[in-house]
Amino acid sequence: MLKFQEAVKHVSGSAPISTCSETLIARRYVLQQKLGRGSFGTVYLVSDKKAKQGEELKVLKEISVGDLKPNETVEANLEAQLLSKLDHPAIVKFYASFVERESFCIITEYCEGRDLDCKIQEYKEAGKIFTESQIIEWFIQLLLGVNYMHERRILHRDLKAKNIFLKNNLLKIGDFGVSRLLMGSCDLATTFTGTPYYMSPEALKHQGYDTKSDIWSLGCILYEMCCLDHAFTGHNFLSIVLKIVEGNTPSLPDKYPSKLNAVLHSMLNKNPSLRPSAAEILKIPYIDEQLQQNVKCKFTNMALKDKTFNCQQEAARIVNAVQKKVHLQTLRELSEVQKMTPRERMRLRKLNAADEKAKKLKQLAEEKYQENLKRMQELRSRNFQQLSIDVLHESDEQTSKHLIQSQPVTALDYISIGHKEPSENETPGRLCMSEPVEHAEKFL
Ligand code: ADP
Ligand code: MG
Repeated sequence: MLKFQEAVKHVSGSAPISTCSETLIARRYVLQQKLGRGSFGTVYLVSDKKAKQGEELKVLKEISVGDLKPNETVEANLEAQLLSKLDHPAIVKFYASFVERESFCIITEYCEGRDLDCKIQEYKEAGKIFTESQIIEWFIQLLLGVNYMHERRILHRDLKAKNIFLKNNLLKIGDFGVSRLLMGSCDLATTFTGTPYYMSPEALKHQGYDTKSDIWSLGCILYEMCCLDHAFTGHNFLSIVLKIVEGNTPSLPDKYPSKLNAVLHSMLNKNPSLRPSAAEILKIPYIDEQLQQNVKCKFTNMALKDKTFNCQQEAARIVNAVQKKVHLQTLRELSEVQKMTPRERMRLRKLNAADEKAKKLKQLAEEKYQENLKRMQELRSRNFQQLSIDVLHESDEQTSKHLIQSQPVTALDYISIGHKEPSENETPGRLCMSEPVEHAEKFL
């Protein structure tokens, strides 16, 4: 709801930056064109006179300081601070922030492909759909970006198709206008922001916002990429809210793999603690496989072929980010596997499965052994205590004092322990009888 209030907020018409089409802004930027208007100000395409060749085009986001309330100025500063810390190929790059002619300005990377919302509308109007591999690729890019943010304890808070930009067909998360740094050890902050379509049930119910709420929004984006429609729709704000809070979890059409649908369902779990984290989703075998094969291949090829886009660097950074996730050994093995015939691959898969099973069995056996060992040790000391207590009854007062000091076990402790596991005591108990007797004899 706040979003709607923000949308009607008066923004000064005499934006000073727009009058500097001929002059340099901050001694290096020249206005090229207006890209649009955001909640806090106007967005321009600028040319950076000090940038390297081919990297001149940037975005200037202008926020008129005069129009901003003090807390909003803080917010703008926070956006700048937040962005300056982030350096990831799936996140819109922040270059600089400064105050010029009563305006707070942020310079970011220019994404020529506009935002994902535009792209979705374009496809919808043309009656097209995104290919499955395209969706997975984009989804993985978003997961890597979100994981990078969350690892740094940063929440986006307003993940939506409109805040995701396209550059050389790569997705980049942008607009951290409503992001917040997580406060200390507390993982929750409770500000009510964003459009309703992507809002999680807990955010709508004011039950706090955490990393899992970003995951919900990302689930909504995944759905939208597949279906070109919002995951939760309605005629008005309230009907959307009701669907999110109480409605059924939407499913992907049958043409999509059930594994992808399962990922979507887990992300749209009404209970945030049951939703997986971005890191966990990246580890799901179905996603991990595509991360290793598709994304890496695609980006490597792109870096080789698409030199005109000057995106080798970009691709190299993505490959780097991906490679961090993929162990070198795994890569080597992967290339070996790719050379194999289907029969050989099947054999390898079976062998791997058998190995996995053997590993699990070994682990189980080890656990059981440790468990038994622990239990035997426990029983040994219990039997010893039991004998000590028996001895107590027959010994003189002096001995009993000595025993109490050396063995601070009360009869009550013994009873409660013995009472808990009466049947389990039998066999191992007999096994370790001799030792406590010896100890007890010392006191006789
Ligand atoms: P809001 O505050 O409403 O989220 P934004 O500041 O995100 O608005 O964007 C306003 C307009 O500028 C939108 O049309 C958006 O597509 C465009 N825009 C914003 N950032 C970029 C960018 N880095 N590259 C290209 N276009 C952008
Ligand atoms: Mg935006």
